[in-house]
Amino acid sequence: MSIQNNSLQAIISHAKEYGFIFPSSEIYDGLSAVYDYGPWGSELKKNIRDYWWKSMTQLHENIVGIDAAIFMHPTTWKASGHIDNFSDPMIDNKDSKKRYRVDHLLENYADELIAKGENKQADSIVAEMDKLLATEDFIGLKQLIEKYKISCPISGTANWTDVRQFNLMFSTQLGSVSEEASEIYLRPETAQGIFVNFLNVQKTARMKIPFGVAQVGKAFRNEIVARQFIFRMREFEQMEMQFFCRPGTELEWYGYWKQERINWHLSLGISSNKYRFHDHIKLAHYANAAVDIEFEFPFGFKELEGIHSRTDYDLSRHQEFSGKKLQYFDNEINKNYIPYVVETSIGLDRMVLAILSNAYTEEKINKEDGSVDERVVLKISPKIAPIKLAILPLVKKDGLPEIARELMKECRNDFYCFYEEKDTIGKRYRRMDALGTPFCVTIDHQTKEDQTVTIRYRDSMQQERISLHEVRNIVVKAVRGNESLTNSFNL
Ligand code: ATP
Repeated sequence: MSIQNNSLQAIISHAKEYGFIFPSSEIYDGLSAVYDYGPWGSELKKNIRDYWWKSMTQLHENIVGIDAAIFMHPTTWKASGHIDNFSDPMIDNKDSKKRYRVDHLLENYADELIAKGENKQADSIVAEMDKLLATEDFIGLKQLIEKYKISCPISGTANWTDVRQFNLMFSTQLGSVSEEASEIYLRPETAQGIFVNFLNVQKTARMKIPFGVAQVGKAFRNEIVARQFIFRMREFEQMEMQFFCRPGTELEWYGYWKQERINWHLSLGISSNKYRFHDHIKLAHYANAAVDIEFEFPFGFKELEGIHSRTDYDLSRHQEFSGKKLQYFDNEINKNYIPYVVETSIGLDRMVLAILSNAYTEEKINKEDGSVDERVVLKISPKIAPIKLAILPLVKKDGLPEIARELMKECRNDFYCFYEEKDTIGKRYRRMDALGTPFCVTIDHQTKEDQTVTIRYRDSMQQERISLHEVRNIVVKAVRGNESLTNSFNL
């Protein structure tokens, strides 16, 4: 069996052809950086979301969830610093009129150098860029672009404007009559919904520090350079958890969550060399530690998740702007304080892309008669695969569909099963491979005699005869997985 590497273009086509992801409003030629999830994409996304939610809430006694609204009082964004600071340095090419994020332009140039083997120079450019970004030295950033004669990929020229900041928040009007309307924002992150509800949650769920609040929901950013499929979207979903702890303990918890989150990723069966940590050199003004979990996407290692020790910045700012006390009385030490926060924040869509890129495999199979067959298979962990089991009667007659339907009835309450009686068995297997279905069972005439079926395993393509009554348990076990999800702690 020979295996070919995946490319982003092949993944995009596959995702569309097999009902995972479509460009938004495609009949009108789509909308840039906005995507819709189809039948199997939405199932996969839901499974990842549920897997995250379970690991955070059900498996941690001291984490609860919330579901806050997308619209928030506009002062929220003043307090959080998003109105003043949520911007990226951009530069426009005067000839193509295209706008670029300065860090992307320089990073792409560094990637090109790495492709040519000039790693040292690439590293020094990125290091210089990080320094300039940290001091917000826009003149220096433009000089760096000019020094390396970096040109626009569209016009090919290096005719650049000055570097300027652009805010990434979308705004809209609340209220029906224009005089009454007030400007509000679509949230650019879900975290603030947790901070403003800190006391509501702490009091009603009777939480004691340390405790966490988890949330999954949509976020919106007017990304200027939206590209790389669902990696960078304008409307996307985040899975965030804010962990409130006693001041002075935050770095310990930061270490804990760094390990816990990488364990979560590895529990999905992805090889550890696809992941790496990237410690931030430039810390946001409110953070005292920050790391990205990077994943090796088809276009290189990029951020998949961020873990930040945010100090008491957010709660202090909301306390200041709202005039309401956001403090906690810690009766163990007899003290009132504003808790410190460690945040874990992962993009659900980026996680879908990570799963698809890791799973997508083109294989050549040498057959016994000497011919070569090909297949595309999505090697997705059974825990999150959209369809867990395909039930396939060999023929549409002789009572086989009836047995298959009975098995469907037995299993579908526990996991997603798919019934298919059209096409040859070989074609049906290939289709299930392309959808990432880990198990197929075929019901044939022998089933009628001895109650056995053929089970076929997606990754090895091995087949074996098992009892019809074992099928459900085999799938349930694989979906649950052997290892426990996290080293959950009880406090
Ligand atoms: P980047 O540097 O790639 O823009 P970021 O550092 O701004 O990301 P955060 O604000 O830390 O990202 O957001 C947390 C997570 O949300 C990211 O790790 C990423 O997985 C996801 N995310 C952020 N922006 C987008 C986007 N435009 N499209 C899809 N996912 C996103």
